[in-house]
Amino acid sequence: MAIYYVNTEAQSNGDHEVHKSDCEFLPNEENRLFLGSFSNCHDAVQGAKEHFPQSNGCAACSPECHTS
Ligand SMILES: [Zn+2]
Repeated sequence: MAIYYVNTEAQSNGDHEVHKSDCEFLPNEENRLFLGSFSNCHDAVQGAKEHFPQSNGCAACSPECHTS
């Protein structure tokens, strides 16, 4: 299991990136929303979509959930 967060600020393409808690690109505390603990990034992105419909896995920490 890993702890996941979603960036509350969209990227320039409108994506809200989903990160693991230990990602080097994890946003600052004020710019992230705690999603919870998931066994895989697919479930985490699904959870993020309840807050931000356009959510996407981070290319660095969750490449298997990243779509470009
Ligand atoms: Zn990341």
